[in-house]
Amino acid sequence: MSATGTWPVDFETAPWHPADHFIDGAWVPSVGTARIEVTNPATGEVWGSVPAASDEDLDAAMAAARRAFDAGPWPRMRPSERAEVLRRFADEVESRAAALSLTNTRENGSPVAETGGAAANAAGILRYFAGLAPHLEREDVRPFPNGVGESVVRRDPLGVCALIAPWNFPINLVVIKLAPALLAGNCVVIKPASPTPLSIRHIVEAARAAGIPAGVVNLITGSGRTGDAMVRHPAVDKVAFTGSTEVGRKIAAACGELLRPVTLELGGKSAAILLDDVDLDAFARVFVRSCLRNTGQTCYISTRILAPSSRYDEIVDTITRVVSEAPQGDPLDPGTVFGPVAHRGQYESVLDHLASARAEGARFTTGGEPLPGPGLFIAPTVLADVTPEMRVAREEIFGPVVTIQPYGHVDEAIEIANSTPFGLGGIVFSADEERAFGVAERVDSGSVGVNFFASNHAAPFGGRHDSGLGVEYGVEGLEQYVAFKSIHRRA
Ligand code: NAD
Repeated sequence: MSATGTWPVDFETAPWHPADHFIDGAWVPSVGTARIEVTNPATGEVWGSVPAASDEDLDAAMAAARRAFDAGPWPRMRPSERAEVLRRFADEVESRAAALSLTNTRENGSPVAETGGAAANAAGILRYFAGLAPHLEREDVRPFPNGVGESVVRRDPLGVCALIAPWNFPINLVVIKLAPALLAGNCVVIKPASPTPLSIRHIVEAARAAGIPAGVVNLITGSGRTGDAMVRHPAVDKVAFTGSTEVGRKIAAACGELLRPVTLELGGKSAAILLDDVDLDAFARVFVRSCLRNTGQTCYISTRILAPSSRYDEIVDTITRVVSEAPQGDPLDPGTVFGPVAHRGQYESVLDHLASARAEGARFTTGGEPLPGPGLFIAPTVLADVTPEMRVAREEIFGPVVTIQPYGHVDEAIEIANSTPFGLGGIVFSADEERAFGVAERVDSGSVGVNFFASNHAAPFGGRHDSGLGVEYGVEGLEQYVAFKSIHRRA
């Protein structure tokens, strides 16, 4: 195995310690000496490491992106030409499906049942945005209402975009930024989260193989310090961030000071509202995907279950059964539903939330304890009889834990659903879809599902309030990466 640029053939066991960043179309040795270790959370084994970018590394990546934007071919190509390259990029991503899945699983413990779909999902996002080229190319001419002339509306690229991602879906949450940024003609510098810096290298390699010109896509690895330096870097024209609300606030403050466009996809505390006519068999079939996807480490899942008092015991029993029967274990086993928690800090945070639930009087109907090490496994946990004041009812836990709260009238359920500072997701379950839709309309969040939840590449996804600013996906997501320009002319 080479230390630079290539990766092991035996993904399941080989170590991987690259010494480089991807800058200006090539893997370039890091100037810095500091390194970040990558630990497999299922085994505790340190199996990889990456360089922590020095200031010089960051400057080199930013300079490459700046040159590519100011003088390179990419922003000057027609959107339909860029779309062709994105379609090749999608093919290259799909051809790396096994490497992407296994690297992702070893980085953050997401079961292969989850990561096995990562390449197809990323390719789907690239193809979806490629299909939006006509939106950028069409003649958008708007007459003055007073008849004096007309305005031609152009959608120019913004420039250099800093893309900063979290560790829970390290491939998808980069590609959802990369695809619209590239289609619009921008150049980017990507920074993955420290626990998951390796899988994204396959994506960057796919971009190179697809023929994306040098300097258009750059990758550096580093910690929050590097992310902060990116946000403030003078070469940057736009910041796109997914991560915690706490860090999102800091980035918003920096971008406010700099008047720099920013999109923020942040935390959530979404509610599943079960109406009194809910079909519990149907609910049980989609429960894990809707409320505990990726071992509870998914931003939009509905981890607060609001159950009508009239069917409370039945609902608690159903959820307890489903959670206790779902297999937890080796994330490389295709039958595994729940893996480990992704990294040590998150593991400690989940255990701390469980301790608070115990102290505040929640009823544990299953789980609640860590499993013997060295992996970071916590038994999937159901907390019943949760009250609104409890910490577990208010804070994002981001681990294999759901809470159940009873409610009386549906108005009360909506009030509880809307009572946190967040506004990201939510689901309404009912045998009557029209009734559920009416309740979904009253949930104060960016996306709500009726009897299921999935993100649709064609529909905007984003959070309200403490869950973020701006949207990803859809035409609206593409327009977060354009600078509008109106050219007025007389009729
Ligand atoms: P995090 O905020 O700790 O880190 C996210 C990224 O920001 C990492 O790359 C990190 O290195 C970087 N970073 C840290 N400090 C920074 C700073 N001061 N300036 C710039 N960058 C900085 O989040 P995390 O723990 O990696 O991810 C989990 C969080 O992400 C959860 O709250 C989850 O809800 C949220 N999330 C939101 C969405 C969404 O679409 N809304 C999707 C997935 C995850």
